[in-house]
Amino acid sequence: MKNILLILSIFLIHFSYAQKSTLIKCGKLLDTKEGKVLENQYILLSGNTIVSVSNTASKADTTIDLSNYFVMPGMIDAHTHVLLQGDITSEDYDVQILKESIPYRTLRASKSAEKSILNGFTTIRDLGTEGAGYADVDIKKAINKGVITGPRMQIATLAMNTTGHYPIKASDYAWEIKLPKGVIEITGADEARRAVRTQIEQGADWIKIYADRGYYRLADGSFRALPNFTTEEINAIGDETLRSRKKLAAHAMTRDGILAAINAGAISIEHGSGMDEACMKLMAEKGVYWCPTLFVNEFVAEGRAKMGSPINLYFQQSIEATFKKAIKMGVKLTYGTDIGGYDWNLAQAKDFTYFVKWGLTPIQAIQTATTTAAELLGMQDKIGEIKAGAFADIIAIKKDPIKDISVLQNIDWVMKDGKIYKN
Ligand SMILES: [Zn+2]
Repeated sequence: MKNILLILSIFLIHFSYAQKSTLIKCGKLLDTKEGKVLENQYILLSGNTIVSVSNTASKADTTIDLSNYFVMPGMIDAHTHVLLQGDITSEDYDVQILKESIPYRTLRASKSAEKSILNGFTTIRDLGTEGAGYADVDIKKAINKGVITGPRMQIATLAMNTTGHYPIKASDYAWEIKLPKGVIEITGADEARRAVRTQIEQGADWIKIYADRGYYRLADGSFRALPNFTTEEINAIGDETLRSRKKLAAHAMTRDGILAAINAGAISIEHGSGMDEACMKLMAEKGVYWCPTLFVNEFVAEGRAKMGSPINLYFQQSIEATFKKAIKMGVKLTYGTDIGGYDWNLAQAKDFTYFVKWGLTPIQAIQTATTTAAELLGMQDKIGEIKAGAFADIIAIKKDPIKDISVLQNIDWVMKDGKIYKN
């Protein structure tokens, strides 16, 4: 009798804790893995997890009818800055860092995070707080605890450069003023190792470095730059990062940053606007991801040219050819916008339009922000696909992005972790 009661009570406890099931009826469903659009599919969810995808309806506690929608996995933006609010010139940047306290910037960041999820980007890789310390750790924590609304986050905390090579530039101000910096600056391999270890201790998922600076165009149209790190420094960073099983992302525009960063272990090249064939070859060989951040360059190009720095205009003139060549050479492309580098009120899905204009099919373009980005983040079983066992991160659009990729700039319905954020 005692045993029967025990079994009964275990059963009742289990039953009362059972997750609620939801059935989503999809008109069209994008299979991002196979690159195919399926019709009349049913997604069954239990709590925050996808249980099954099939063409037959199963019984569930709730049903959501998306039979007039195009349904796909929540998108991934692999390069964001929730703690920045758009800076065209160095003056705009300095104003944010100097006039806004870190708590104020963090409040604004919570709004950026909310915008990301409403834009249909249910996961982001946020690549540096730009002088806001470890505030990204707090934003991530607040999202995970349900204090604020936002996407899943992988974070890079401070980001790194070498002494004297990152804003705020001392020479723009009276020399006796102690200025904040947008990154942690190091000199020497020991300081590099210390900075990596400290950031990882505080919660960095990624180590982000700025590998080159001072970009210039040569007469033959190719680009060069000044490398920021010594070989010893950059290799110490890579070594320390990889030994802690973290990943290295490198802001690098030209071969002067790109080659050194990859040789040090970087798995993603950010921007890479001035890369040459040797870079593309090495990236393709090593399976390094390219996160080209196209719209942000256009966004800043004119304003910076007016202030006397035309390099972004030059990148603008050559990027289409660079892009086409890189794709042809087999460089893996992942979706990243650098939003925050431009205003969070502007489109986060704008880069897709360049991808399609420059030769990718709409499905291939979407894969950069789903399956490929998930792989970059090491979350390929959990996000970027609608399949059994993955998180219920699902978005829907009334119009068809396969016919017109720009409709991804207006997502109608968003679910993250089984919870609806936009309806
Ligand atoms: Zn960035």
